[in-house]
Amino acid sequence: MCRKLSNLISSVTIPPPACMLLPLEVPNRYLFGPGPSNVPPRVLAAGGRPIIGHLHHEMYEIMNDIKKGIQYAFQTNNHMTLAMSGSGHAAMECAVFNVVEPGESVLVSVNGVWGERVAEIAERMGAKVHTLVKAPGGYFTNEEIEKALAKHKPVLFFLTHGESSAGLAHPIDGIGDLCRKYDCLLLVDSVASLGAAPLLMDQQKIDILYTGSQKALNAPPGTAPISFNDRACHKMFNRKTKPVSYLFDMTHLSNYWGNDGKPARDYHHTGPVSGFLALRESLAILAEKGLENSWRHHKEVAEYLWKGLEDLGLKLFIKDKDLRLPSVTTITIPDGYEWKELLAYMIKHHQLEMTGGLGPSIGMVIRVGLMGYNCSTSNADKALAALSDALKHCPKRKA
Ligand code: PMP
Repeated sequence: MCRKLSNLISSVTIPPPACMLLPLEVPNRYLFGPGPSNVPPRVLAAGGRPIIGHLHHEMYEIMNDIKKGIQYAFQTNNHMTLAMSGSGHAAMECAVFNVVEPGESVLVSVNGVWGERVAEIAERMGAKVHTLVKAPGGYFTNEEIEKALAKHKPVLFFLTHGESSAGLAHPIDGIGDLCRKYDCLLLVDSVASLGAAPLLMDQQKIDILYTGSQKALNAPPGTAPISFNDRACHKMFNRKTKPVSYLFDMTHLSNYWGNDGKPARDYHHTGPVSGFLALRESLAILAEKGLENSWRHHKEVAEYLWKGLEDLGLKLFIKDKDLRLPSVTTITIPDGYEWKELLAYMIKHHQLEMTGGLGPSIGMVIRVGLMGYNCSTSNADKALAALSDALKHCPKRKA
């Protein structure tokens, strides 16, 4: 027998939470950490457009535009290009889950937190993980990489292009050729560097490249562009076992994005429609500005910031200018200061976010990110003024 609706309503024992009866409050902040960065009004407005069905033909057109925007941003002609419904970690997992089978050898370069994460992801899905390790800020020579490829014979080699936990832009040239020599796929993380530092997927022979939406692209967090070339497709579509994740299985995702040549796109999951609208707009802004202009602009503003930081008496964590990531600058924690107090002061008095280190760089650095929309000399001045003020007002605890 059905219970009456009135009985059901009276059976509610948990009252509406008081916080839900108050309006949503979101502060305005300068997001000058390593991400998310501030989202320009045009991208926010795109994300605020009406929701349409994720399987409507207009949405397919928008997804096709996104694919083209990613191909431009990555400098690739890869057909297998799409955006993950999820943050950068979704792209990391998608790459590893699809091209690696349990028991296969994977080589991961670890010079900050991102290599640590990928090593853990690969280990969780049953790969034999080998690591090449350097302290945060260190980089790997092509000779070191070749030695490890020859020794471990991995099916996949992972490298972070923009190591945001250390502020390092890793050299890429020649590594794609090495991976081909040893019959290995090259997977590169460009979450923190895409649009800010030069990267050419096809020319640099990167087999799988992913990024995030919330850094130099200035879209809200929650979508992650990714692209696989033919070598990567060959490996992932000729596997013996199914990938451990249903959501990230590229046989389904390639159909959802219209990449598998089948006449119909089937329901797989409901994509983040608003996130895709915003991502499309952010890719459009990058296309209008031009990649080379964007790279040049990030470099110029970063150099302006670096000079200002040195004028304040601060030391930059990455000594070699050519290895510094233009989007995320790392400052060695100034002697005597508690880094958390400096950050708390800037949020409280300047509404301005910088962050500390992450993973192995915790306690070593303060990170300043000026990415995309946030990348300007006037914002660099704001960051410098906030830091200078914090250095004056926060107590020095150690000698
Ligand atoms: N890789 C790098 C280099 C990153 O900077 C980040 C985000 N800080 C990620 C991966 C992970 O991205 P997400 O937080 O969007 O999952």
